[in-house]
Parts: sequence; C-alpha cells; structure tokens
Amino acid sequence: MTTPAAPVSAAPPEGVSAWVTIDLAAIADNVRELDRRSPGAEVMAVVKANGYGHGLVPSARAAVAGGATWLAVAQFNEALDLRAAGVTTPLLTWLYAPGVDFGAAIDADIDISVSAPWALDAVVAAARARGRAARIHVKVDTGLGRNGALGQGWTDLIAALGPVVAEGAVEVIGVWSHFARADAPQDPTVLGQRDRFVEAAEELERAGIRPQLRHLANSAATLTNPNAHFDLVRPGLAVYGLSPVPDLGSPQDFGLREAMRVTARLALVKEASTGQGVSYGHIYTTPEDTVLGLVPIGYADGIPRHAGNVGPVKVGDRRLTVAGRVCMDQFVLDLGAGYAGGAGDEVVILGRGVDDEPTAQDWATAIDTINYEIVTRMSDRLPRVFIGGDV
Ligand SMILES: *Cc1c(COP(=O)(O)O)cnc(C)c1O
Repeated sequence: MTTPAAPVSAAPPEGVSAWVTIDLAAIADNVRELDRRSPGAEVMAVVKANGYGHGLVPSARAAVAGGATWLAVAQFNEALDLRAAGVTTPLLTWLYAPGVDFGAAIDADIDISVSAPWALDAVVAAARARGRAARIHVKVDTGLGRNGALGQGWTDLIAALGPVVAEGAVEVIGVWSHFARADAPQDPTVLGQRDRFVEAAEELERAGIRPQLRHLANSAATLTNPNAHFDLVRPGLAVYGLSPVPDLGSPQDFGLREAMRVTARLALVKEASTGQGVSYGHIYTTPEDTVLGLVPIGYADGIPRHAGNVGPVKVGDRRLTVAGRVCMDQFVLDLGAGYAGGAGDEVVILGRGVDDEPTAQDWATAIDTINYEIVTRMSDRLPRVFIGGDV
C-alpha cells in the first residue's frame, strides 16, 4: 500500500481563479505500486494525451522516478516533445498516418509500432537513408478490432519482416497487442485475446524473430490479470491514481491515489430570493431564499456541459451540486441561506476520494462517462501547479 499524500493543495499563480494541482509524488508512488504488482515485468508508463491531462513532461519524469523503465505516447509529436525536453527513457509511439516523419523518430531513438506493410516499408526507407536500424514493436490485433495486424495480415507482416530484419534495417524490440475488455477480467474475450497473443508471438518466433519484450496489459489487466503481464505492463490511467475498474475497486483499494486536483475560487457571492432562475435556460430555480456562488471555470476549461445540475463539488466541508447549466467560463452553486463565506472561498472540483472530495469517478458517474475522459479534458487554459517532485 502507498501512504496517503500529505500535500493536497498548493498556492496557484498570483491572480489565478481556477487551477489544477498535480501531485508528482502520487504519480511516482503509483508507478512503484504497479511495479510491485507486476513482479518480473517492466513498467511502461503511458503518458499520452498530455499525461492524461497531468502534464506530459512532469508526468513522464515522475513515472521514471517511480521506477518506470519505459514510456509510451500515442502520437509522434508527443514522443518528439519528450525527447526535446531531455527525457531519454526508452519510448514507444504507435499512432500515425502516411507522411509521418519516421526519420525524426529514428534520430530521436523512439521505438515505432508497426501494424501494416506500408508502415514497415516507410520505416525501412527512413532507416536505410540513415544507415541505422529502426527500433520497432510489431502489433498484432488479437481481437480488439482497432490497431494491429489482423488474421492473415499478421502472417503477411511477418513475411515482410524477414528480409528487412536480416538486412539490419529494423530491430524488432517488441511484439504487442491491446485488450478490448480488460475491465471485465472474466470476459471470455480476455482469455481468447491472451491465447491469440501467445500464438501470434510463437508464429513470429518460428520465423526466427524473437523480440525481447511481449506486452499486452493496460491498467486494468495490470491490476486484475497477472496472467497477462508477460515481460512488460503498459498502464496509463492507474499511473495517475484512478481505477480502470471502478466496479471492482477504488484507487485506494488498489493502493493508488489520485494525482490531479482541480480547484477554483468563488468569483462572486450574492443573495437571491425564492424562484430565481439560475444560469442559461433556467434549468435550476432557487427553491427558497438563498446565497448563490459563482465558480469561474466552465466547459472551455474542461468542465463537462452535461454536468449541469449534477456535477459534484465541495465547498468547506459540504458536498454541493452544480446549480443550472455549465457555461463556457463559469457555473453557479446554490450555497444555501446564511452562507457565511464570501468571494475567494475555495471550491474543490476534483480531489481525493478519501476526504469525501468529489473524484474524477464521481464526475464520470454523474454524466455517464469514464474517469479517463474527465481528467484528459482539463484544458490548457487551467494553469498546472506541480507539487511533490521535479517538473
Ligand atoms: C491508452 C493505451 C494504454 C493505457 O491504457 P490504460 O487503460 O489507461 O491503462 C495502453 N495501450 C494502448 C495501446 C493504449 O492506447
């Protein structure tokens, strides 16, 4: 188990009314915990999508401090940004379209995922032009029906690999795949995909290609399915202290803790009479004489518009719900008659479950989405304040 974090808040930049605090010690501790739960496997921390909204480079550094020996991002530009920031950890990237500059990835020591012959051809051309082998991970579609070589496509990809491996244009570092339903560990597709993965890796081996790394497990499989750990686990969400399987366990149940905290200061506090319509469309009306508080954060910052009348927040020691529509830059709270505070009071929008603060999971439940979407949507307009580590 990780120990609970002491610091949960930090001073925002001067004059800022809404901000995101990222606890880098939580990220490092979460990686330590994931490493402990996957003995014999290395940890590749997934820091795509700006570190799931937590900041690309700081999240990557914190994950490495916690023991990640690999990093991964979906997009080439994110990989190049990590290298430009001086992050030298082995790094995998997988999502691109024809025209992408594979040469830049080879120059920057970035491992490239290959799912199709056209991509292999382009990687090989870039490697030949540099006189240097490209490092690749070949991806098999074991049933997700998304990226990866499927069925006969896998056999064809292996056939295409033979000569370019022999030539030394590519070095096959890994073979990998991704689950469709890792969040339902008992689902028959999970076992089926694992079996297909083993079979696909054996087919590669029969062709004389033996990559050092086989990897399949995302956060859910890392936490619930040791049988899928292989040589390396590839968690994203859990690195940031969120549960990929909220029905099976909370972050605390898995020894993880939330790294993101979203806070704002009330911009205005005012009395209103019974029957006052609140915010666009008046979907909320004050049931009695009360005090309204204006929270200066809205859907352009990442607060879902669907959270009107349902989004949870905490003010002082009370849980409250968004009153009326979420607007582009702001929303309103019904603070109740006799509210003793005033403008400047802190509103916790996302926090840690342990203190009865609303979590990303609470927001996800309120608007019928997943916690992934809540943290990744927090926009760059909100300044990030980093605590608990080196940025
Ligand atoms: C995003 C992603 C991961 C990490 O998934 P989590 O559920 O966040 O752990 C792993 N592998 C691939 C291919 C991904 O796209």
